[in-house]
Amino acid sequence: MSRVLAPLVRLPWRRIPLRPFLARRSYLTPSTEPVPQLKTDHRVVNQAPTTAVPIDYAQEYMGKPAPEGVNLMKGRMNVNIEGRNSTIRYMILRDACKCNLCVDEHSKQRKFRTTDIPPMIAPRDVKWDGMELQIRWRSDIEGWSPDHVSKYAVEALRDQGPNPPRSDTGKARRKWLWDKTAMTANQHWVSYEEYMNDEQAFGRAMRHLATMGIIFVKDIPDSREMVEKIATRMGPLRNTFYGMTWDVRSVPQAKNVAYTNVSLGFHMDLMYMNEPPGFQLLHCLENSCDGGESLFVDSFRAAQNMRKKYPISFEHLTKLLLNYEYNHKEHVYSNSWPVVETEDGDPKKGILHVNYSPPFQAPMISNEYVHKNWSEYRRALERFVYEIESKGNIFQLKLNPGECVIFENRRVLHARNKFNTEQGQRWLAGAYVDEDAVLSTFRTTRNADPSVWHQSGLNKLTFKRIKLTKGATSAEATAENKGTE
Ligand SMILES: [Zn+2]
Repeated sequence: MSRVLAPLVRLPWRRIPLRPFLARRSYLTPSTEPVPQLKTDHRVVNQAPTTAVPIDYAQEYMGKPAPEGVNLMKGRMNVNIEGRNSTIRYMILRDACKCNLCVDEHSKQRKFRTTDIPPMIAPRDVKWDGMELQIRWRSDIEGWSPDHVSKYAVEALRDQGPNPPRSDTGKARRKWLWDKTAMTANQHWVSYEEYMNDEQAFGRAMRHLATMGIIFVKDIPDSREMVEKIATRMGPLRNTFYGMTWDVRSVPQAKNVAYTNVSLGFHMDLMYMNEPPGFQLLHCLENSCDGGESLFVDSFRAAQNMRKKYPISFEHLTKLLLNYEYNHKEHVYSNSWPVVETEDGDPKKGILHVNYSPPFQAPMISNEYVHKNWSEYRRALERFVYEIESKGNIFQLKLNPGECVIFENRRVLHARNKFNTEQGQRWLAGAYVDEDAVLSTFRTTRNADPSVWHQSGLNKLTFKRIKLTKGATSAEATAENKGTE
């Protein structure tokens, strides 16, 4: 896609609140769209359900009344799940079966297509005790034995998925937003030995990474191989044109500003890519120069503060697309991102990513929205930069040899003080791991030992100020984990 077209094509797409629209289409508020009607006698199955008093089909389907809490209708059933009535279509219920006939026991791959389910499928027997729903089917998928029983635990009827976005391991998980004080009090250090070999210590580290977006590994053996070992404990290395792992050292004529000895302002890596890496590692091998301290800022806190102080400017940050590019002879990348990405693109919902990387910004001259709204956009950006660069928000440390920082690339902005290469050496080895892989690791460590995920180990007192900030907008409530599991 050409750079000229990119902003024009992307903007309208990002503005369509697709998911909330779909989510709102519950059975109680039927769509106004005409439903295509099939020329068969099962037409009624495909009609949008209505709120009319349902006709009881239990006798017709099963020859007996339905169990308590269940009401059988044409094409769908009502199930009372913990006091709430859910309407579930038979075809969609059949589609969700995970028995050994339907899903391969070992590969966990499904053995039928959704379109294999006959539209006229209905139960011939139903059992429901409030915890588990059991169904035997009439007119089941061709080839399925009459012995086939579908069993659904109550959780499966809610269809949370294995790693729900709002859970404490999901991508919209609740995070503890930190400033300098909170990070100073709660920085999480784990020894290389424990990180690699102690499941509980690793689980605690992942829990901190999930909530704070940054952790530190110490006592690392002095070897260039270590950054790969530390990274692959979380997930496969993310390869880029910088290599599977890469080095930050002072080199003359560097193509990337990180490779020089001047100071480097707050930024995120690889914003010019379509999928910027979710997590970054920097393992310090040498740092004997004067200067060269690492600086970190929680951009979610900066954005959240803006939402509280300047809600309109915050909204502008969710609309303002900045362009990024890497344009060299060997590699040409470009992309554009809104400064703040929220759930469903809704500025009142939780923040999913921040995208901000001035060193790699590209011209935005072809973006008409930027021209049109420039004074508002500029003010919003200026306020955001003020939040980021306020001294009280910046956590600074000088990494020593044998220490590695792991941070969430699209949450924690990183920067570096300038350093003097006339005396001493500075050498960091870096690696990336994708967000998907780390979310999976969050979940597997939690599955292995949920207790670790229930004790945050954070000094909550140091967050008091931030919590007040968070709670100050009703919007943030939607971003919190409201007990989805
Ligand atoms: Zn099955």
